[in-house]
Amino acid sequence: MNDLALSIADTGLPHPLLVIAARAAIAAGDPDSAASEAQRLRRSLLGPAVNATGVLLHTNLGRAPLGNQHSRSALGPDLDDHPVRFSNLEFDLASGRRGSRAAHASLLLATLTGAEAALVVNNCAAAVTLVLAALARGRGVAVSRGELVEIGGGFRVPEVMEQSGARLVEVGTTNRTRAADYLAAAERDDIALLLKVHPSNYRITGFTEEAAVTELAKIGPPVVSDLGSGLLDERCPWLGERPGWLTGEPGARQTLAAGAALVTFSGDKLMGGPQAGIICGTADLVAACAAHPLMRAFRPGSLVLDALQSVAMAYLRRDADAIPFWRMARVPVDELAERAEALGVGRPSRTTALAGAGSLPGQEIPSAGIELDGDYAAALRAFDPPVIARVNEQTTVLDLRTVDPADDTVVAAAVRDALEGQS
Ligand SMILES: *Cc1c(COP(=O)(O)O)cnc(C)c1O
Repeated sequence: MNDLALSIADTGLPHPLLVIAARAAIAAGDPDSAASEAQRLRRSLLGPAVNATGVLLHTNLGRAPLGNQHSRSALGPDLDDHPVRFSNLEFDLASGRRGSRAAHASLLLATLTGAEAALVVNNCAAAVTLVLAALARGRGVAVSRGELVEIGGGFRVPEVMEQSGARLVEVGTTNRTRAADYLAAAERDDIALLLKVHPSNYRITGFTEEAAVTELAKIGPPVVSDLGSGLLDERCPWLGERPGWLTGEPGARQTLAAGAALVTFSGDKLMGGPQAGIICGTADLVAACAAHPLMRAFRPGSLVLDALQSVAMAYLRRDADAIPFWRMARVPVDELAERAEALGVGRPSRTTALAGAGSLPGQEIPSAGIELDGDYAAALRAFDPPVIARVNEQTTVLDLRTVDPADDTVVAAAVRDALEGQS
């Protein structure tokens, strides 16, 4: 199988997709068809298409064409030469018939997480709402009292539950909830789902207990885990190893392997992609979500799907440098310290960076940058482009963990400008 996959490597697909093509060819009893399987798979991805139908707003081809002001990635790295782009957004190139915009990314995300299927919506709040509306409307959903949380931007679990038409069934206590609490609820009530909400932006410490997904999966109703942060795989194969600051963060792949029927997460947190919400899990439950009328309101556009596909392909190629979040997160501190020296302004210093977006509360990422005595935040903000810094007790800190090396000169110029303005 692996040899067969390697033999079709010239199709340019990442290895995990070549394996899928090889497997399909073997399953069809025709190993020689591996190359054409790979080709079929490649053409099922979102990509550019020339619209010669005469229909200006072709629904299957993404309606209004994108121009240069839009995408620069998979829909057309050569967009400068082809300033107008239609795509196969809802077009099945194999059959020539209408396709589904959900299909392109589904295979990639499912491959990355080990799920049977995947679905993309506009954000994780929409993902949770859709799951609850599609699978638990008018029925009970068991949630631990310790997980009835508010996540940044006003995402409150009880309110989302209410909007979706599902009925909240609180189990356990604020600090301790056991599998037996969910089991008792399932026995006395009409429970459609057991929902776990990852405490992405706070921690309960001390005398605490929570039920593991493996235990919940034995109870009966499907387990849905709202992970939020969206770490695809705890082993971080795209990095080679898992960084210390990610310790304890659950991965989508591991949560599904532990028995969750569905996981939901954001595209723009630890996944490092565009704003999106992702639902991964069993084929029947994902299909039920896709078929729900709310999906029409939650579906993402081609720009988002295109960006998400690029990120998914980067993960499949294990190319962390193609994902800015991981590229920045994994730069060695010494390299940041050298850049801080090279700026030639301010006082080089060791700093601590954070994952942010409510992810990994309390986990510090070693970093480096420069410090300025005094509060220069406003002056730095006034620069063009604006530079946003932190201020701790009258010390301005510029952390290079989140600055692209190409912007070091901007940082240096902004600091010089700010210092001159105050003198
Ligand atoms: C961030 C988060 C959400 C909301 O995600 P959005 O993509 O911002 O809508 C929901 N649930 C959890 C656990 C989160 O961490």
